[in-house]
Amino acid sequence: MRIARAALLRTAAAVTATLTLGAGVSACGQSSSSGSTGSKGGTIGIAMPTKSSERWIADGSNMKKQFEKLGYKADLQYANNDTSQQVNQIQNMITNGDKALVIAAIDGTALSSVLQQAADAKIPVISYDRLILGTKNVDYYATFDNYKVGQLQGGYIVDKLGLKNGKGPFNIELFAGSSDDNNTKYFFNGAYDTLKPYIDSKKLVIKSGQTQLDQVTTMRWDGATAQKRMDDILSANYGSAKVDAVLSPYDGISIGIIASLKNGGYGTKSKPLPIVTGQDAELASVKSIIAGEQTSTIYKDTRKLAQVAVQMVNAELTGGKPEVNDTKQYNNGKKTVPTYLLQPVSVDKSNYESVLVGGGYYKASDLK
Ligand code: BGC
Repeated sequence: MRIARAALLRTAAAVTATLTLGAGVSACGQSSSSGSTGSKGGTIGIAMPTKSSERWIADGSNMKKQFEKLGYKADLQYANNDTSQQVNQIQNMITNGDKALVIAAIDGTALSSVLQQAADAKIPVISYDRLILGTKNVDYYATFDNYKVGQLQGGYIVDKLGLKNGKGPFNIELFAGSSDDNNTKYFFNGAYDTLKPYIDSKKLVIKSGQTQLDQVTTMRWDGATAQKRMDDILSANYGSAKVDAVLSPYDGISIGIIASLKNGGYGTKSKPLPIVTGQDAELASVKSIIAGEQTSTIYKDTRKLAQVAVQMVNAELTGGKPEVNDTKQYNNGKKTVPTYLLQPVSVDKSNYESVLVGGGYYKASDLK
């Protein structure tokens, strides 16, 4: 924990230094003091997956702002969760002469050929939040500690149910993210490893029997797909029985799960909603937490992730060395990609004000 915090502070300091330097440079219109030969400036291609989730909108606009502060232009594109649209957008960025690419992949395995074109044009590539798989043409990876996200989700359920104090048995159902997103298995494994001792001792019972990752994924992280699966689970397995907890990997999925539970009669005094986890601290989910429906979420400060990615690009383009703190965990099948991991934070009703409002992520008035 100490080390992680120190590392975070170090990056924050490095990024601040970079940003300050950048602001000074563009203000006096000189080239970078790192001795670059005109590679400073130019356009950075930012390929984001979808606008259907707030976090990616925030990620994109945070990066755009930060790149512009450093004197770059940003070409920010969203691909509507459509893989071929994303490939086309990246292709255009390369054709247009963008200096670097920052990509949050829709399907981590679908970019090999377009990234070969990027490599041929000597364009550095930063894999953003989600690891790009199956190609050596990824230079750096900026993300949150994805396994830790899952541990926090699972650990929240363990704490809230009092499992460490011997309480139980309780009924739980498991949901995971999109099977084509490399993060999905990290989130799921982190959570499952944390829950496993209680599943083994039968203090946690999964009545649907759906325990394997490939049985519980949710294509494209879609809330309606999760809602349908929850409907099916409730009608097939929970006649008079009650669900006590649902592991949900993402706020949009949590919203679908809660809608299904409410349709199934949960959310009353005699049948309260189960614990439902989440991820991203999206506005609708934070409001749901305040209203006592969703129980928790995982906050990942997209401003910090944007800073890390911007720092990586700027270092790459000005002859510096991007800062990383993990050179072991993230192998994409072709190489181990040097990574900067940020720390996620678990948020519920008890700490949302200090973490989200106190940290300036939301204004108190946003949450009304
Ligand atoms: C991100 C999560 C997000 C999910 C759905 C994952 O790759 O890491 O923060 O909840 O995609 O958008």
